[in-house]
Amino acid sequence: MSTISTQSFTANGITYNPPPKPVVVICMDGSADEYYNAAIARDRMPNLKKMSVQGYRGSVRGALPSFTNVNNTSIVTGVPPSVHGICGNFFYDETKDEEVMMNSSSYLRAETLLAAAARAGRRLAVVTAKEKLRDILSCKMKGIAISAEKASQATAATHGIDHAEVVVGHKTPPIYSADASLFVLRAGVAFLQKGLADFLYLSLTDYMQHTYAPEAEESLAFYEAIDTELGHLLATGAIIGATPDHGMNAKIKEDGTPNVLFVEAILEQQFGSGFRVICPITDPYVKHHGALGSYVVVHINDKNKIPEVQKWLSRQPGITEVYDRQTAATLLEQPADRIGDLVVLSGKDVVVGRRPQYHDLSALDGTLRSHGGRYEEMVSMILSHPLNQAYAVKAARDPRNFNIFDFVVNGTVAQ
Ligand code: ZN
Ligand code: ZN
Repeated sequence: MSTISTQSFTANGITYNPPPKPVVVICMDGSADEYYNAAIARDRMPNLKKMSVQGYRGSVRGALPSFTNVNNTSIVTGVPPSVHGICGNFFYDETKDEEVMMNSSSYLRAETLLAAAARAGRRLAVVTAKEKLRDILSCKMKGIAISAEKASQATAATHGIDHAEVVVGHKTPPIYSADASLFVLRAGVAFLQKGLADFLYLSLTDYMQHTYAPEAEESLAFYEAIDTELGHLLATGAIIGATPDHGMNAKIKEDGTPNVLFVEAILEQQFGSGFRVICPITDPYVKHHGALGSYVVVHINDKNKIPEVQKWLSRQPGITEVYDRQTAATLLEQPADRIGDLVVLSGKDVVVGRRPQYHDLSALDGTLRSHGGRYEEMVSMILSHPLNQAYAVKAARDPRNFNIFDFVVNGTVAQ
């Protein structure tokens, strides 16, 4: 293996002083603490337990809305959505009267620390489960960037690697499967073992967590398989950090049916027409959540009505927070030009939607588990190595999940 660059680099005001060891950060999509705890309690995650004991495990606060692309973008930039600009899969451009999909790096307003690390001589590999994230995560980055979903299509010219399936030793998995996430970890293991990369970002997908509760055998088996790959990663001597993009909660009524508040419909009933609700969780992968999460934004034609609507909405059962644009921009760290007149968050067991016809509940695999709001904001950060003194102090304050590269690179004591 060629030598590992220790040249420091800076991205978005944060300077990284990388150790002469491989660095791996894993985004454990949708891994609420309950999943780890259920698996550890049943001795299904010995390697994660070992990391927690020998390294570090603590709580960190994610970015809002607690969605996948928002937090993945925060993790690779080290900054909140107010700075990097990605605040969901969709936003509504009022001046153009267009609902715009934000999955392209052209909407990114900050550079990634991955691109900066590559410029400093680190050999990068980004592996994501879903193809939709690849463009943002690998923006202007030299190195390997593949998705599990489209692994078979990778070429050296476009993805930094030929014959990815052969290198990884596994076929391209179906996207709605445990294997979609396991492929990502297996790719990381293969790249490290074969000396193809020394600075890795591995981003899983949360189909399993949307579908199964923490104590379900399907979940336990999934986390056990994740743990096996963690063992392989640890064996390479890499410094490893793992944090979820968000947690996951059941969003159901007592009878088990989805607990949905259709915000556009109830607003029209109360105030008449003139409302547009955007569900920024909406994406082409609807099977696992029906485009329902605990966060929506509301555009109101008559701007004079904003205070009255805010007051009324904030009193509806199931709704926990309603902010006007400027307050949301500050308090929730949002880019003011890509949110609505109001931002609405719902309770732990409640999702907010637009109107019934926008959400295909029949596509769900049995139950509704989702995220997006405040109750999926707090997640874990688990590191393979102990924290140095300065970062132990930071960890005791208000650390964010998107500080994880900073913690792994600058904050650990490598042995
Ligand atoms: Zn996610
Ligand atoms: Zn999800």
